[in-house]
Amino acid sequence: MKQDKDWESMKHTAFSYSFTPREFFFFLFKKPKCPKCGEKMIRKKEFFSTKGKIPGTFTQELANVKDDKVKYYYYTYTCPVCGAKYTLGELAQ
Ligand SMILES: [Zn+2]
Repeated sequence: MKQDKDWESMKHTAFSYSFTPREFFFFLFKKPKCPKCGEKMIRKKEFFSTKGKIPGTFTQELANVKDDKVKYYYYTYTCPVCGAKYTLGELAQ
């Protein structure tokens, strides 16, 4: 799959944050504790890449930007005690 390989090595043309409104609220105002042991969780920024926009997320800043390869940032939370890992989306439900 040569085409996919080209895409893999291609530079990102835009970036965004893959928050839903609910996740964004959680991100701003909540300090999550581990669902298993109650410890305060550590937030980490990660990203993945997509072709084009993801519907239902905050992508307004992409309106006039090429979206051939979009770098989406998202956040995960890890418990320092038991090692449990959750995405922001999972915790915000
Ligand atoms: Zn834990």
